[in-house]
Amino acid sequence: MSESMNFGTLWWDGKITPWADATIHVTQIGTASVSSVFEGIRAYLNPMTNELNIFQLDAHLKRFLQSLRLVRLECEYSHADLHDAVVSLVRDNNPDRDVYIRPFGYAESRTFGAATDPHAHVIIHVTDWDSKLKTDSVSHSTVSSWTRLSDNQMAPRVKASANYLNSRYASEEAKRNGYDHAILLTPQGKVAEGTGMCLMLVRDGKIITPSVTSGILESITRETVIQLAREALEVPVIERDVDRTELYTADEAFFCGTGIEVVPIVTIDRMKLGDGAPGEISKRMQSCYHDVVRGIETRYEEWRTVVGNQ
Ligand code: PMP
Repeated sequence: MSESMNFGTLWWDGKITPWADATIHVTQIGTASVSSVFEGIRAYLNPMTNELNIFQLDAHLKRFLQSLRLVRLECEYSHADLHDAVVSLVRDNNPDRDVYIRPFGYAESRTFGAATDPHAHVIIHVTDWDSKLKTDSVSHSTVSSWTRLSDNQMAPRVKASANYLNSRYASEEAKRNGYDHAILLTPQGKVAEGTGMCLMLVRDGKIITPSVTSGILESITRETVIQLAREALEVPVIERDVDRTELYTADEAFFCGTGIEVVPIVTIDRMKLGDGAPGEISKRMQSCYHDVVRGIETRYEEWRTVVGNQ
């Protein structure tokens, strides 16, 4: 996201606030980040209507409130309040391109470890982040030497900022060794997910993906892709434990997530999947996902919150 640009205002504890005025004291940075959860939502411009489609807004807000509840932070805003906040913030900034929307809930704290004030402050901000769906972006991935977090430790189901140190270790190691992305295994040695994305394998015409009890974030894109695979692509999907060696024997594989969207994996630990080019099912999914998120495909309108141009 290094090239991202911020827009003029953000939403902070109920108010649309000028970007430059939204500051907290520098000493809060570390402690507030430990007790915090967040969401990442994309909004895509429909090229035909020029309207923005916020993709899966309600599913993201549901997970945001669930994350806050699981870390026992108290949020004074309802789902409906947050929905209105996102829509009014997007309207206020009136972007003419695809954007990324990040709700962030945090508690003020003077210490790193102790649960002090449970009151959640909420910030929502908008930046731009170009889609790579119509590019030929691919991933050369590696199995990480780091292990994925687990449920009774730092629950991957909770989208807590602190969980992302696990992702950082794996991602830094992968990049240092010349790969694009890391794939993390659970403490039991089963495949979990990437550092900010879920993983789908294709074997013998079927999609196989680790189940929601495999140390993964309950990804909204994963659910979307599963439904699209079954309904739109007519490809069966199996959710189950996945062994490491299944990664190497897959005909094709792809990552999915709000940020990464749908990206074909062409090698894992330098072993080619199929012939080392993006597979047919991965390409079909990428194209289908593109049309659905932008509203070019008119079905699945319940997934899109349309914000018109003023
Ligand atoms: N796993 C992790 C660890 C993530 O951070 C993300 C990105 N939110 C995903 C999976 C994909 O989740 P989603 O499809 O809901 O964005």
